[in-house]
Amino acid sequence: VIGARKLMEPVDALEQDDITALRRVSRQEYLKKREQKKVEELRDDIEDEEYLFDGVKLTEAEYGELRHKKELYEIVKKKKKQSVEVDDTSEYKIPEAYDQEGSVNQEKRFDVALIRCRDQEGVGDKMNPFAEQEAWEDYQIGKATLKYGSKNKKQISDDDYQFVFEDQIDFIKTSVVDGCNIDNEEVTKLLEKSKAKSALERLQEERKSLPIYSYRDELLQAIQDYQVVVIVGETGSGKTTQIPQYLHEAGYTKRGKIGCTQPRRVAAMSVAARVSHEMGVKLGHEVGYSIRFEDCTSEKTVLKYMTDGMLLREFLAEPDLESYSVLMVDEAHERTLSTDILFGLVKDVARSRPDLKLLISSATLDAEKFSDFFDSAPIFSFPGRRYPIEINHTKAPEADYLDAAIFTVLHIHVKEEPGDILVFLTGQEEIETVEENLKHRTKGLGTKIAELIICPIYANLPIELQSKIFEPTPEGARKVVLATNIAETSLTIDGIKYVIDPGFCKMKTYNPRTGMESLLVAPISKASANQRKGRAGRTGPGKCFRLYTVCSYNDLEDNTTPEIKRTNLANVVLILKSLGIHDLLKFDFMDSPTPEALMEALELLFSLNALNERGELTMLGRRMAEFPLDPMLSKAIVASDKYKCSDEMISIAAMLSVGNSIFYRPKDKQVHADNARMNFHSGNVGDHIALLNVYNSWKETGYSTQWCYENYVQVRSMKRARDIRDQLEGLLERVGIELTSNANDLESIKKAITSGFFPHSARLQTNGSYRTVKPPQASHVHPSSGLAQVLPRWVLYHELVLTTKAYMRQVTELKREWLVDIAPHWYQLKD
Ligand code: ADP
Ligand code: MG
Repeated sequence: VIGARKLMEPVDALEQDDITALRRVSRQEYLKKREQKKVEELRDDIEDEEYLFDGVKLTEAEYGELRHKKELYEIVKKKKKQSVEVDDTSEYKIPEAYDQEGSVNQEKRFDVALIRCRDQEGVGDKMNPFAEQEAWEDYQIGKATLKYGSKNKKQISDDDYQFVFEDQIDFIKTSVVDGCNIDNEEVTKLLEKSKAKSALERLQEERKSLPIYSYRDELLQAIQDYQVVVIVGETGSGKTTQIPQYLHEAGYTKRGKIGCTQPRRVAAMSVAARVSHEMGVKLGHEVGYSIRFEDCTSEKTVLKYMTDGMLLREFLAEPDLESYSVLMVDEAHERTLSTDILFGLVKDVARSRPDLKLLISSATLDAEKFSDFFDSAPIFSFPGRRYPIEINHTKAPEADYLDAAIFTVLHIHVKEEPGDILVFLTGQEEIETVEENLKHRTKGLGTKIAELIICPIYANLPIELQSKIFEPTPEGARKVVLATNIAETSLTIDGIKYVIDPGFCKMKTYNPRTGMESLLVAPISKASANQRKGRAGRTGPGKCFRLYTVCSYNDLEDNTTPEIKRTNLANVVLILKSLGIHDLLKFDFMDSPTPEALMEALELLFSLNALNERGELTMLGRRMAEFPLDPMLSKAIVASDKYKCSDEMISIAAMLSVGNSIFYRPKDKQVHADNARMNFHSGNVGDHIALLNVYNSWKETGYSTQWCYENYVQVRSMKRARDIRDQLEGLLERVGIELTSNANDLESIKKAITSGFFPHSARLQTNGSYRTVKPPQASHVHPSSGLAQVLPRWVLYHELVLTTKAYMRQVTELKREWLVDIAPHWYQLKD
């Protein structure tokens, strides 16, 4: 994704983007088809069809679309540097699993998988998990076709359980990891005793039951003795919630604030809420949080939780972080881009400020690297509380991990003893699909099964719904938490006994050669898989169900590549330059970015005139850096001063920053929704102006909720846009740009946008596709765009997303002359 929300927030924040990667491509097609046509009706003529997918007829073209997923596998494969190519047809003879009559030979099916495992072990080299998945998917598709196509389709039995288990997944128990129970009995007694007490007292007892509590004094001593301490402790042991409180109790807040960074905004909010509870104070008073576009702190605040991106921005206002007495860079193992940059910056500050305490905390054991980086800082590591966990792997790869996850949830719910379930999914869209599906499947079952409470958690979930995941499960019911990898180490949910791990997460990758950034679903690392597993054994013995095979696990990378190695750096480079760090190659990186990525960022900033030819920050660049936005968007805002349309531009920027969650399309009212949406596009004004129209129309109704309903616009997104806009307005003032409106001069507004986004131009080709300028490649107007049917000669786009094809999202028509006028260093007329 190339876009506004690219850099300052971790992958989670990008969930809204419908980058349908990997398996979701086929799945969505499939669900759509299934909705449209009843399988029943098709069954009779199905045998004549050439293109079948899970029993549903597809046209040749549609089938072709499905095949595109192969391309996605290729991309991910390359990214994961699976250097050993596996010829999946020769090595992986899945079709043999069918016999002549076309029915499935189960034994052979597993033979294939087992042989493969053995081969792999023997050779010891890496295989391509996608080849395996792909072959298996083909096989499953075949199986499904056979199942629906055959006349003797199994009757749906009256037995409801049969309904639940219409499918079957074979798991094999592969190992049991031992726990390391420390004084569990004592803890249980403590918790028992606390049941009778008041809420606040109970919270205090709970605090004492956390593993870190026994190390409180030693930890405080270590912090007193050393300036920098690396802290390592199991997830859920109390690092994030307790350490800042201990320091507060020990008097560190008398000298200044305690800041604690989190890579994810949900974690910052949720942890701050928890700590304010524990301290019995109102959130935003003594305990607060700060995330992009939302500052919930006050004069009183002494414990401040914030995203790592926000602390980075605080350096701009306060280069020595004078108002802080302690900084805790938490979740250091996540190695987000902002955290990595912070490492270099705080290390430097610590040298010039001996009074500043620096804590680097991590959930994983590879703390040596942190210690080395911080001049051999001592490592304070304490044991967590772990119960034994049984690990199960699937016997064979699963064609669709969402279906497999749903099935496994239901299986556990019906068959396993009480205890809550945690499912790791890749994003909001998936979570919503699974939620809907689970609700649907359990609805008809009434009292036959226990109540299943479904709790989603992802970055864009409103804060009032976030706390639901922490509520204790009522007796007799079971909770299933559907989470992104926010629940991997950032948040700990008590009572989880079962973990379902499909083995994927969303991952941002950037190709500095082409300048293309994309967010794809990719396999997780072994370290992640083990963290996920660990969530099952926090409050008692647990089970982990991995929806992948043992050999797939063995092929996972050990650790996730740090984000700095795989992302666009323009934003960070702009911040560093603003901080007076000129020679980026000499910056103290824990892991250096590639020189290509650095060059690419410098070039972009130079072309935006944020840097001069000596690579120094210009006045313009300094103003741009004030905006917590992608440099191209910041540039468009600063340029809007010249075109006298800053009022319109910040509305557009706010709407773009909200992401792709402005409109919604209810299933039964898609036509209405589409019509309502197209109203904002009248005159083919382009998507940017359409967003402005949406905002202004809403504003004219006095920010009416009713208006949103009538126009199929999400109220929540609009409120967020309004919030963001207010803040951008404040920033305008700060950089000395007057708020001026030029609503009727659309050309000026478009020119202002062009001033920032001229590198994102594309020209129509004779075949109806577009060719982007950089990277020069074929792309298409996204179907959701108002210009999808119009196809102007020249367009500019906000972001390029990669699904089955490269799509340009948020597209506006532009005139070629503007490019030449605005960016003569980039564009010249040929004739
Ligand atoms: P760590 O940072 O070591 O992973 P935390 O400090 O986040 O551990 O969590 C310690 C305990 O606090 C956990 O047992 C968790 O269940 C509880 N906890 C954390 N946040 C919340 C919350 N928002 N609501 C309820 N309990 C919470
Ligand atoms: Mg934590």
